[in-house]
Amino acid sequence: MDFDLFVIGGGSGGVRAARISAGHGARVGVAEARFWGGTCVNVGCVPKKFMVMAAEYGGAADDARGFGWDIAKGGHDWAALIAAKDKEISRLNGIYRRLLDNAGAKIFDARATFIDAHTLDVGGERITAERILIATGGHPTGLEIPGAEHAVVSDDIFALPEMPRRVAVVGSGYIAVEFAGVFAGLGAETHLIYRQPLPLRGFDADLRAGLAEALEQSGVRQHPGTLPVAITAEGGAKQVQLSDGSVIEVDLVFFATGRAPNTRGLNLGAAGVQTGPKGEIPIGTDFATNVAHIYALGDVTDQVNLTPVATAQGHALADSLFGNKPRGVSLANVPSAVFSIPPIASVGITEDQAPAGAKIFVSKFTPMRHTISGRARKTLMKLIVDADTDKLLGAHMLGEDAPEIMQGLAVAIIAGATKADFDRTIGIHPTAAEEFVTMRTQTRVAGALAAAE
Ligand code: NDP
Repeated sequence: MDFDLFVIGGGSGGVRAARISAGHGARVGVAEARFWGGTCVNVGCVPKKFMVMAAEYGGAADDARGFGWDIAKGGHDWAALIAAKDKEISRLNGIYRRLLDNAGAKIFDARATFIDAHTLDVGGERITAERILIATGGHPTGLEIPGAEHAVVSDDIFALPEMPRRVAVVGSGYIAVEFAGVFAGLGAETHLIYRQPLPLRGFDADLRAGLAEALEQSGVRQHPGTLPVAITAEGGAKQVQLSDGSVIEVDLVFFATGRAPNTRGLNLGAAGVQTGPKGEIPIGTDFATNVAHIYALGDVTDQVNLTPVATAQGHALADSLFGNKPRGVSLANVPSAVFSIPPIASVGITEDQAPAGAKIFVSKFTPMRHTISGRARKTLMKLIVDADTDKLLGAHMLGEDAPEIMQGLAVAIIAGATKADFDRTIGIHPTAAEEFVTMRTQTRVAGALAAAE
C-alpha cells in the first residue's frame, strides 16, 4: 500500500486527521480539489465572521454618538472589505497547507475517487491505502422553484463584486439570519423570507422570539410563514413572488436553505460504502462506515455540522488509529453560536426539550452599553435546571458577546455544574455575563407555558 491513511478532503476535519496521523508516524496522503481549509476557512465561518464584524462596526459608529463621539459614518467600501478578507483567507490557506507539509503528509491538489475499497484515482494517479478517510464536507442547496437560476447560495456571497442594495434572504437557519444581519448592517434593504412563524427552528423559543424582535429593530423586513414561489429577472433587478401573493423587488436573492453532504462523484459504490437518504455517510462511534477500513467524519456524515466537531473527530480518529489512544467524540452538549446581530449562543437542551418540572430562569434586560447608546436592543439569558439533581441542563443567550460567554458555561455544564455552583460563583462586575450567576428568582417550570396555551 502507498499510504497507511489517505484522506479525501482538506477541510477542518480532514486536515486535522491527516496532520495528527502523520505526527503519530503514519504515512499519510491528503487530497483537496478546491481549497485548503474547506468550507469554514474559505466560504464559511471565517469570512462570514469578518463580514459580521464589518456590519457591527457600522452599528458601533452609530452607538458611539451617545458616548460623545462626533462620528460621521460615511459609506461602506464593499470592495475593500472583500480584498482584506481575501488576503487573510489566502494566508490561512497557506497555513493549512504548511501544517500538513510540516507534519510530513503528502499533499495532492486533486480530486480523489474510489476505484475499489483500497484504491483511489487521485488526479489521474492510482493510489492505494490501508485506510481511507472521507472528509468531503457539504455544499449549500437552493430551492427548486421557477427562476431559481437567478438566486445565489452562500458559496457565491463571499465574492460578490459589489454590495447589493436590496437583498432577499430565504430561510431562517444559521446562514440566513447571519447574512440578514450582515446585509442590513451594511445598509441594504433586507428581506428575510421563512416558512416558520419564528426564525431558527430548533433553538430555544425565547431566543427565537428575541431574535425576531432584534431583526425587526435592525430594520430587517421579515416575511414569516412565507415561501418564495418564483423568481423573475428584469435588467439587474429580481422579482420574488411570495406564497402570500406579494412580490418584492431586490438586487440579490440568496437561498440559505440548508446544506447537503458531498458524496456524489466519489464513486462510493466501487468501495461498497453506503449512504443515507440525503447522501450522508452513516458512521459508528469509531467513525467507521459500513466498510471497516473506510472512515468518515464532519459534515459529510450530517450529524452536527460544525467545524469544531469535525476537528475533534479528526483528532480522535488519528489518535485512535495511530496514537494508541482510542476514543470517540461525544455529541452531547455541543455548544454553538449564531453570529446574528446581536448573536445567539446555546449549550444543552431547550425549554421545549426539558423534562416537565425543570426550573426555568429567564432574564431580559437592556445591556449597559445601550442605556447610553440609545439603541433599542435587549439581552436575553436563560438557564434550565433539573429539579431533582439541581444540574444545569441548558444555557441560552441572545445578546452581545453571547458566543464568548457561552464557551465557559459549556465547560461548566459538561463538568456537571449545579445551580448552587452558579449561585456561589461571584460575578464579574459590571458585565452582562454576571447575570448568569445572579439569576435567583425562578421564572417558571418547564411545561408551564405549553400548559397555559
Ligand atoms: P439550516 O439547516 O440551519 O437552515 C435551513 C433553513 O432553510 C431553515 O430555515 C429551513 O426552514 C429552510 N428551508 C429548508 N428547506 C426549505 C424549503 N424547501 N422551503 C423553504 N425553506 C426551507 O441550514 P443553513 O443553510 O443555515 O446552514 C447549514 C448548517 O451549517 C447549519 O445547520 C449549521 O450546522 C452549519 N452552520 C453553522 C454556523 C455557525 O456555527 N455559526 C453558521 C452557518 C452554518 P425550516 O426551519 O422550516 O426547516
